[in-house]
Amino acid sequence: MGTKAKEMVGAEAKNIVTLLNKAFADEWLAYYQYWIGAKVVCGQMRGAVAGELAEHAAEELKHAEMLTERIMQLGGTPILKPEDWYKMTNCGYDSPEDPSVKTLLNQNIKGEQCAIEVYRKLAEATKDKDVLTYHLALEIMKEEIEHEDDLEALLEDMSQK
Ligand code: FE
Ligand code: FE
Ligand code: MG
Repeated sequence: MGTKAKEMVGAEAKNIVTLLNKAFADEWLAYYQYWIGAKVVCGQMRGAVAGELAEHAAEELKHAEMLTERIMQLGGTPILKPEDWYKMTNCGYDSPEDPSVKTLLNQNIKGEQCAIEVYRKLAEATKDKDVLTYHLALEIMKEEIEHEDDLEALLEDMSQK
C-alpha cells in the first residue's frame, strides 16, 4: 500500500483486513452453496430457480474478488486455505441435503439476511475510518439486498400456484 493510502487508514488496517477476510470466507461458502444448489435443486419451477441460483453464485464469486482486492490494497493476505473459510465465516454454510426448491430458497434467504447484516456492520465499522472499504461494503450490500428480494419473489410466485 502506498504512503498516502496507508496514512488514510492507519492503525485500523489490521482490524479492517480481518473483517474483510471474514466476509471473504462468507462469499466463498455462499458461492458454493448457490453453485451446488443450482445443480441439485428439484421440484416446482426448477429451471427458473436453478437459473437464479447460478446467477447469484457468479455474483458471490465477484464479491470475493472485490474483497480480495481491498484486502491486498490494505497490505493483508486473503485466506489461503479453504479450511479457514469455516474458521472465519460469519454466516456459515447450509448444505442442500434436502434439494427441494422451497428448502433451498429458504436456506439461501437466510444466508442473504446474514450477508446484509455483515455488510451493514462492515459499513458501520469503516464509515469514518476507511472510505474505500465503506463504499465497497455498501456496493456489495446493495447486491445482497437484491439477492434476498429475488429469492423471496420466487418463493412468493411458487405459493401462488
Ligand atoms: Fe455476496
Ligand atoms: Fe448474495
Ligand atoms: Mg438475482
